[in-house]
Amino acid sequence: MGCDSCSSGSCSTKPNDGLPPGMLQKYRLNIDRSDGFLVWIETERGPDGSIRVCDHCKELLGKIREMDQGRSRVWGAIFGHLELKPLYGELYSYGVETLYEVHDKALSTFHPEAYADNLAQIIIRTEPAVVLFGATPRGRELAPRVAARLETGLTADCTELSLDDRVLSMTRPAFGGNVMATIQSTTFPQMATVRPGVFPVPEPFREGKGTVIYWQSTCRNLKDIIASETKESAGGDISRAKVLISLGAGVKKESIAVAESVARKLGGSVSCSRKLVEKGWFDQSHQVGQSGRSVAPDVYLAFGISGAIQHLAGISSAKKVIAVNKDPDARIAEVADQLIVGDADAILRELDASL
Ligand SMILES: Cc1cc2nc3c(=O)[nH]c(=O)nc-3n(C[C@H](O)[C@H](O)[C@H](O)COP(=O)(O)OP(=O)(O)OC[C@H]3O[C@@H](n4cnc5c(N)ncnc54)[C@H](O)[C@@H]3O)c2cc1C
Repeated sequence: MGCDSCSSGSCSTKPNDGLPPGMLQKYRLNIDRSDGFLVWIETERGPDGSIRVCDHCKELLGKIREMDQGRSRVWGAIFGHLELKPLYGELYSYGVETLYEVHDKALSTFHPEAYADNLAQIIIRTEPAVVLFGATPRGRELAPRVAARLETGLTADCTELSLDDRVLSMTRPAFGGNVMATIQSTTFPQMATVRPGVFPVPEPFREGKGTVIYWQSTCRNLKDIIASETKESAGGDISRAKVLISLGAGVKKESIAVAESVARKLGGSVSCSRKLVEKGWFDQSHQVGQSGRSVAPDVYLAFGISGAIQHLAGISSAKKVIAVNKDPDARIAEVADQLIVGDADAILRELDASL
C-alpha cells in the first residue's frame, strides 16, 4: 500500500497509524529484535541486618516461568556491592540466567536517577521484550524514570499478566477500581510495575547456576545522603502475614491496641482500610487495597470494613476471609467465608480475652 503523505508507490510507511511521525518505525525496529525478560531485583535488609531478595522479585520470576515455560532469556539487574554475592545462587535458582550487577558501593543505597540511568543502559544492551518491577515505593519511583528514558510505555500497578508470543497483556484496576483494564503496549520494551503479593512465591525451580556481569556505573551525579533512618513498622510487613487482623471505619481508635494484642497472640499483623489511613491512625504501609497493598494471608479478619471494591482488590488472594460487621448486608459479606454480625469493638475484646 502507498503512503498518503508522499504518494509514492514504493514507500513502505503504513498510512495514518494515528501515531506521531517516526514512532511506527521506531517501535517496529525494537519489536523485531526484543526478546526475553528483565526484572529489577530489589533487595531489603532482614531482621538480622543481612541483605535479601524481596519476595515480590521471586513472585515475578515465578510468573515469567509460568507464562514463558523457560523458552526465553531472563535477566536480572541488581545494584550494590560485595554484599550481593550470597544472593547470586538464589536468583539463578529462580530463573535468572544472567545477572547484571551495577557494582558500586554508593549504589547500595537507592538513588532513583542513577538507578534509572544504569537500568536504561542495561535494557538498551540486552533488548528484552518485557521489563518488570515490583509496584513498591521504590519500584514506583524508578520504573517511570526508566520508561521515560527509553521513550516506552509503562503500565503501573498490575494485578495480572499474560503472554501471547512476545506480547504482554497487563491487567490493572481502572476508573477508581470499578473495572479491570487489560492493556497492551504499542512500544517495546513492554514495561510494568506489578503489585507485590498478587502472584505466589514459587519454590526454587532451576539449578543455581548462571552468569553475573559487573556493570560499571557511569552516573556521577549522586545526591549526598546526609542521614538515613529505618522506620519501624508496627506489626511487621502485612503482605507476608499469615494472619491479618484488619480494621475499618467501624471500629473505635481504642481497638487498635486490642487488635495488636490479638495479632501478637495469633502470630499475625494488623492492617486497615484507607479510611483509617486518612484519619491518621495508621501509616500507608498498613493499608490494604487498590491504592495500598495486596495481601495473601491464610486468614483475613476484617473488623468494621464495608468491603468497597478498592479494598477487596487487595484481598483477592486471601485464603479465608472472616468479616465482623453490624450490617448483615455489608458488601464484604459477598466475599467473606464467614460473616459475624455484631459490634466489632466488643468482638475484638472478647477474642483477645479468650485467647
Ligand atoms: C481511587 C480510590 C482508591 C482507593 N483505594 C483504597 C484502598 O486501597 N483501600 C481501601 O480500603 N479503600 C480504598 N479506597 C476507599 C474505598 O472506596 C472506601 O471508601 C473504603 O475502603 C471504606 O473503608 P471502610 O470499609 O473502613 O469504611 P466504611 O465504608 O465507612 O465502612 C465501615 C463499615 O463498618 C461497619 N460498622 C460501623 N460500625 C460498626 C460496629 N460498631 N461494628 C461492626 N461494624 C461496624 C459499617 O456497617 C460499614 O460496613 C479507594 C477509593 C478510591 C476512589
